[in-house]
Amino acid sequence: MQNKDLPSACPMDCPDTCSLDVEVSDNRITRIGSSDRNPNTQGFICTKVARFAERVYSKERLLYPMKRTGEKGSGKFTKISWQEALEIVCDKFRQIKERWGGEAILPYSYGGSNGMLGQDTSDRAFFAKLGASRLARTVCAAPTGEAALGMYGKMPGTAFEDYVHARFILIWGANPKVSNIHLVPYLKQAKAKGAKIAVVDPRLNFSRNEIDLHLPVYPGTDLVVALAMINWWHEHNLLNWDFIDEFAKGSELLLEKAKAYPLERAAKIARLEPDAIKKLAEMYALHDPGLLRIGWGPERNRNGGQAIAAILAMPAVLGKFGLRGSGYTLSNSSAYKVDSRALADVPSWNTRVINMNRLGRTLLEEDDPPVKGLFVYNCNPVATVPNQNAIVQGLRQDELFTVVFEQVMTDTAKFADILLPAVTFLEQKEIKKGYGSYALHYLDPVIEPMGEAKPNEEVFALLGKTMGWSDSAFMEDTDDYLQRAANSVHGLRKPVDLDTLKKEKIAFFDFPGTAPVQFKTVFPWTPDGKINLASSVLGQHPYEYLDDDQARHPLALISPATDKMISSTMGEFNFPELYLVIHSKDAEPRDLRKGDVARVFNDLGEVHAKVRISDKVRPGVIVMPKGAWRRSSLNGSTTTALVPDSISAVGGGACFNDVRVEVERVSPE
Ligand code: SF4
Repeated sequence: MQNKDLPSACPMDCPDTCSLDVEVSDNRITRIGSSDRNPNTQGFICTKVARFAERVYSKERLLYPMKRTGEKGSGKFTKISWQEALEIVCDKFRQIKERWGGEAILPYSYGGSNGMLGQDTSDRAFFAKLGASRLARTVCAAPTGEAALGMYGKMPGTAFEDYVHARFILIWGANPKVSNIHLVPYLKQAKAKGAKIAVVDPRLNFSRNEIDLHLPVYPGTDLVVALAMINWWHEHNLLNWDFIDEFAKGSELLLEKAKAYPLERAAKIARLEPDAIKKLAEMYALHDPGLLRIGWGPERNRNGGQAIAAILAMPAVLGKFGLRGSGYTLSNSSAYKVDSRALADVPSWNTRVINMNRLGRTLLEEDDPPVKGLFVYNCNPVATVPNQNAIVQGLRQDELFTVVFEQVMTDTAKFADILLPAVTFLEQKEIKKGYGSYALHYLDPVIEPMGEAKPNEEVFALLGKTMGWSDSAFMEDTDDYLQRAANSVHGLRKPVDLDTLKKEKIAFFDFPGTAPVQFKTVFPWTPDGKINLASSVLGQHPYEYLDDDQARHPLALISPATDKMISSTMGEFNFPELYLVIHSKDAEPRDLRKGDVARVFNDLGEVHAKVRISDKVRPGVIVMPKGAWRRSSLNGSTTTALVPDSISAVGGGACFNDVRVEVERVSPE
């Protein structure tokens, strides 16, 4: 028996896109470690993916197609053949289409942890041909994407390795300590060279000596803080008019809106000290190069897209571009310039669109037509999508036919009528593009597929064939789709040669240079090449702040990623007990002590969890981790049971941070 180190790459919903070496012995994974193919990986990976083999070999791994034998949600299934499963799914979808129309079928998926073949290939062709409803995949990154598209045309962002050149770094609504860990060494290097680092976040995720300033902004108020800073720069003649005149438009509207937020007013709304906002504004304006890392925290509320737009406007009005270590980083996914139409031949598809954040409401209330068939893949909505109780209630309906195509028995899979087993990234051929580090990875399987698990592109092609369709999308195999994926990527400046990519496993960008310098080597990909500060994506009320004065409960709940979970993936083993974190000033009047069991509740539901007390979260805000499965909670409900299915005006994004709750003690430990 001989150990082999085989190359791979991490597919998780994480900006870093690490290159991996996977040690395999006798077709069994014995270790997952880092490789140096992607220099950004820097010789280490996170503990999440180092443990991924526990998912591969989990007792809960789905190894065969199965059909339900018990109550919906009971998790009782019996093994069937692939042929039987495909025929049941196709028969049922045919019947639904005949009786209710194709729109009564809803494909439900998300793409955070996918390679290029995992989404929008034969799956898209299958649902288009069915005439199924379309899904707005908006649970994450929709408001940021919309704002960045309207303002900068999704221009590639500053590369992580260039953070070492910054003299000032502003991290706004991101926690690189857990979901972009390969940025941290660059932050440390910049700090060692004298850079100032400031963080805007309701929670302090850094030690006091790692940063110079922390603004514990109240959730949902980032917009007014950014506008107040812009207004303060305007009042103090710190705007870079030469840059604005040459490269931006719409500044009049922005500055007019910003005028409504003098420091004192903004500070009152954001529950901050005016001097702290002023200090941040000074630091940013007076240091060059100044660099902005925006995360996805500020988008998860009713003001999300407007907030992202105001934050993205800051480097524009200061002209913080043109030098290595300047500019901003948000998502770099569009740098790949993927021609999604080239990924598969898809018939025209113009049916109704359902916002994925409203799954529960859609299953329970939609009647034109009602959803009678649901196909869930690449996601676990019971754990991750707002209004968990409504989703569970919707999935329990006898008349709903649900297919779940998954790797393990998730909270959602338990409600399936038919379960289809999916391969993990370690068992398939894939091409993975990142949304942070600038590299395109090729993945070969490192082990044979477990049981009868199959990859997405194959399963949807099989479904198409079982329907009796002979379109090319259902006749092509994995190698055909790899070629299509390689052909569809245009951002690297030279065509992707699949044979070379297969051999070298990784391809880099050339902007020119492997790292773009905004306004030196890359410019806005807007139609006129300018930054649009008054983009129509901001709707009829650009930069308008909506308050939450009517909230019925006093504490704001946020649910950020942790070092264990950045989505719900691996929640089957990586999250034994859900907890809440509360500031001592909020804990004392409620008589809460460390280890107590507390009831966190609002009008939508309640979650029972153990109390942790920490002054790193600001008063008025409590934290519960994202992605936890129902088993990790003391009453079977997790954070999403408290999240309303309201959506933000820009991008229709989820409002995970608009949750207002009360907390009370259930019992001492
Ligand atoms: S840091 Fe991110 S990309 Fe790297 S192994 Fe962990 S989850 Fe994957």
